[in-house]
Amino acid sequence: MENPRRTSEPGQTEALAGELATTLVPGDVVLVAGELGAGKTTFVRGGCRALGVTGTVTSPTFTIGQRYPGPVPVSHIDLFRVESLDDEDPDLLAEYVRPDTIVFVEWPSHGEEAVGSLGRVVARVLIEHAGGDERLITIDRP
Ligand code: ADP
Ligand code: MG
Repeated sequence: MENPRRTSEPGQTEALAGELATTLVPGDVVLVAGELGAGKTTFVRGGCRALGVTGTVTSPTFTIGQRYPGPVPVSHIDLFRVESLDDEDPDLLAEYVRPDTIVFVEWPSHGEEAVGSLGRVVARVLIEHAGGDERLITIDRP
C-alpha cells in the first residue's frame, strides 16, 4: 500500500479503509487518528462496510464505544470525550476490545496504552486535511 494516500471524497476514504479491512482478523485493533472532521468516522464506516456490517456506523455519543453485529463482530470506540482512560474503569474498555472482535478506535491518543494492553494493534492510521475535500491518509503497520 502506497503511503500516504490522497483521497478527494469520502467514498475514496471508505474504499481505502475497505482495503485495510480485508486484511483484518478477529482480535485486531486499528487506531484512527486525526483532527475533528478529518474523516475518522468515515474511515471506520468504510472498514465496517467491507467487513459486512450493514447497520448505521456513527461515533458513539453517550458511551466510549459500540458494537456492530456482522459476520465478525466489530467494535467502534471513540475516546474524544475521555480525558484519559486511566481515570476510567478498565472493564469499560474490555467490553469492546476482545479477541473475537475487530476494533476501530478514534482519538486513540486519549487511551492508547489502555487499548494496547488489552488488544493487538495491527495498524495506525493518520488522516490529515489537505485542502477542501482532499485528505492525506497514512497507514502504518507495525
Ligand atoms: P471525524 O470522525 O474525523 O471527526 P467524520 O468522518 O465524522 O470525521 O467527518 C468527515 C467529514 O468530512 C464528513 O462530512 C465527510 O463527508 C467529509 N469529507 C470530505 N472529503 C472527505 C474525504 N476525502 N475523506 C473523508 N471525509 C471527507
Ligand atoms: Mg468521529
